[in-house]
Amino acid sequence: MNDLFLRPEHVLQGGYFHSTLRKLQEPNTSIEPHNIMYPVFLLENEDAIQPVGSMPNVHRYGVNQLIPALTTLVDKGLKSILIFGIVETMPKDPTGSSADDVSNPVIKALPKLRDAFPQLLIACDVCLCPYTSHGHCGVLTNTGAIDHAASVKRIAEVALAYAKAGAHVVAPSDMMDNRIKAIKDALISHKLQNQVSVLSYSCKFASSMYGPFRDTMKSSPMEGDRKCYQLPPGSAALAARAAARDVAEGADFLMVKPGLPYLDIVKQTKDQFPNHPLFIYQVSGEYAMISRSGDSNEVQTTLMETLTCMRRAGADCIITYFAPVILSIISGKH
Ligand SMILES: [Zn+2]
Repeated sequence: MNDLFLRPEHVLQGGYFHSTLRKLQEPNTSIEPHNIMYPVFLLENEDAIQPVGSMPNVHRYGVNQLIPALTTLVDKGLKSILIFGIVETMPKDPTGSSADDVSNPVIKALPKLRDAFPQLLIACDVCLCPYTSHGHCGVLTNTGAIDHAASVKRIAEVALAYAKAGAHVVAPSDMMDNRIKAIKDALISHKLQNQVSVLSYSCKFASSMYGPFRDTMKSSPMEGDRKCYQLPPGSAALAARAAARDVAEGADFLMVKPGLPYLDIVKQTKDQFPNHPLFIYQVSGEYAMISRSGDSNEVQTTLMETLTCMRRAGADCIITYFAPVILSIISGKH
């Protein structure tokens, strides 16, 4: 018994007793600024700032408020943002016309943001749901079903409008089949394919963890739900097929959303497509849970552990509302 206990190959603790050795044991889990993308909510009113009630320390900004907020973060190393437009006075209609209108807040803000932050990577969420009167992510038929062809056409139009306005990355979050090809074709036909990339929300599950986000975006469906296009939480197989579909259509980057309960899908997707950088969207429900996990020290250690585990599972970049906290931690600037 004693002999077995002392077998050298079973003595692991000699390999991680020192903090530098522990780093060597975690080769692909570092959290650097390029591993973090910060989602921001952009208001029509350029001077407005609104706290989000359900998400502590998260705000919606007009562009004139967003720029100073981002300046502080860029100084701490922020490398990329993901923009969501929110409309309050612009009309919502069945086809989401306000999504690519010239007065859409995203379209108006993009040139200003590019100007203010020449090095910052700017991604734009592309979806119709913040702009449709029915709150769905596509266009509906007379019977209320998703009109697939019309939806994909609209989504590609919106993506192209954001690309023309200055987005480096367009990120369709609707989960409609074949929208990646439609967007890529639109970029190619406008000679933007080498200046704009496509981050696909490829494995997006119909999760109950989006609750605080929908509150933020004011975009819950009026009728029905999104289960006919978002994936059922128990299906790893559909996630694999969705990722394969989007890779075949030319997606540059893949995503799993939400993150923490779906780390098996992250691993599966990374194993399936090791050559495609993989994003996780750490969603609002995850943010709410970690925010409530204790005092600020406990929140920070829980957060960093969670990010480490996401990296271990295969994520290259994590889209997270905690970006300001993370940048403070890793830059040492508070
Ligand atoms: Zn949507």
